[in-house]
Amino acid sequence: MCQGTKCHTYNTQDRLKGTKGNKTFQTRRRSSFYYGKGNFCSLNCQNDWFDDFGDRAIDHFGRLNEPKHLTEENAWVKDYDWRGGDNDRYYYYLNKITKEQRPLTQEQFNDNNYTITER
Ligand SMILES: [Zn+2]
Repeated sequence: MCQGTKCHTYNTQDRLKGTKGNKTFQTRRRSSFYYGKGNFCSLNCQNDWFDDFGDRAIDHFGRLNEPKHLTEENAWVKDYDWRGGDNDRYYYYLNKITKEQRPLTQEQFNDNNYTITER
């Protein structure tokens, strides 16, 4: 079921249900949706929900009042380029802050459990 607070007010043919003389526009009901982790039938409905409840949701789960920090220790990402030539990927760890690079083997690159070891 779409969680959009105004979903039923968007007058599309697929929302019109019921028998003759007894028709209503209804909230969209489907087993899965593409938006908002499957909770909304459209971006419009997701935005409607946020307009109505967003402030309260943020206050409930914790409003961010200070900037979060991505530190040098946590700024490593896996990347590759073609500096070795066509068909020869060069794999490396890149620190998004310091720009330092450390070579990786292809196995390390593909291994989701492989993380960089701190000096
Ligand atoms: Zn909707």
